[in-house]
Amino acid sequence: MTEPLAPGAVIGILGGGQLGRMLAVAASRLGLRVHVFEPAPNPPAGDVAHQVTTAGYDDEAALRAFAAGVDVVTFEFENIPTAALDLLETLRPIRPNRRALAVSQDRIAEKSFLNGLGLATAPWAAVDDAAGLEAALATIGCPAILKTTRLGYDGKGQARIMAPADAPGALAAMQGQPAVLEGFVAFGAEVSVIAARGADGQVAAFDPGENVHEGGILRTTTVPARLSPGLRTDAVLIAARILNALDYVGVLGVELFVTPQGLLVNEIAPRVHNSGHWTQQGCAVDQFEQHVRAVAGWPLGDGSRYADVVMENLIGDDVDRVPLLLRESGVAIHLYGKGAPRPGRKMGHVNRVKPRV
Ligand code: AMP
Repeated sequence: MTEPLAPGAVIGILGGGQLGRMLAVAASRLGLRVHVFEPAPNPPAGDVAHQVTTAGYDDEAALRAFAAGVDVVTFEFENIPTAALDLLETLRPIRPNRRALAVSQDRIAEKSFLNGLGLATAPWAAVDDAAGLEAALATIGCPAILKTTRLGYDGKGQARIMAPADAPGALAAMQGQPAVLEGFVAFGAEVSVIAARGADGQVAAFDPGENVHEGGILRTTTVPARLSPGLRTDAVLIAARILNALDYVGVLGVELFVTPQGLLVNEIAPRVHNSGHWTQQGCAVDQFEQHVRAVAGWPLGDGSRYADVVMENLIGDDVDRVPLLLRESGVAIHLYGKGAPRPGRKMGHVNRVKPRV
């Protein structure tokens, strides 16, 4: 695909969650259509998509029919089965590309890639068994965090090791899956950069946001982040470095730890990111539009920040506060159209906006 998408063209999105929903809204605002592919029935993105395919990622006929009806394929989550991508790739361009996905699907591939670029991460070591964990602990020390290399998100598949006695329990929590041991970073803050790269190589980064997690789940993102001008520049340069190295097209999220020694990369997400939701009220062009523009082969937009924003996730029963939030001024409410709230389930978010000072 070399020509920019024309009005009415169709973007195929793998995954139908809230990120797909907000991408579909952005696409429709730009006169483009979205076809969502999602195994679960009634996905949040389905309410606002032009078309929805409900089928498994192993359904070859459904994947072929989906590809035949779209101009380009993108995704809203990174753990898409490889076989599905192998097939889709022969039929339509996938943006961002397979390498970006492969790197972010596996923590060891991700850290090796980042370190190979000269970017700092927490100290880490691959762990396959009890002997491997003992050896890793001997070099990395305690406290440390053991994480499954694949399929971890929102703090799932992680176990803290405060003392060597915690090691057997942490290993058992990995349920036999390959793991990586990370040294515990005594960070001053967590920040993230949401950045985009266009098909022509143009790069645009949003202002870094400062993130607060609770129980491994993002609770709030605040812009501006409390970062020195030097670290703010570093954060943006790190994101640009990653985007260029991956020949990336689309929006990428980079999570960083702020330490006295500088910024460490925690992880990268090859997609729009929860910590970029503030851009919906903080910028003329938000992360969702930026991703659609990139994937469509259009020029990137101006993502300058013109407001101070605090984004707060509405998790589980937090949605009960919506009637009160509706009366608050300076608040934009985003609800994902999900069914019953469950603990840990992201139901929506709010952006509290103040004009930029
Ligand atoms: P992750 O799924 O790797 O993004 O981890 C979820 C959250 O756990 C992060 O946002 C941090 O708050 C915390 N965390 C993860 N890894 C580390 C680490 N090596 N040191 C300290 N905190 C961590």
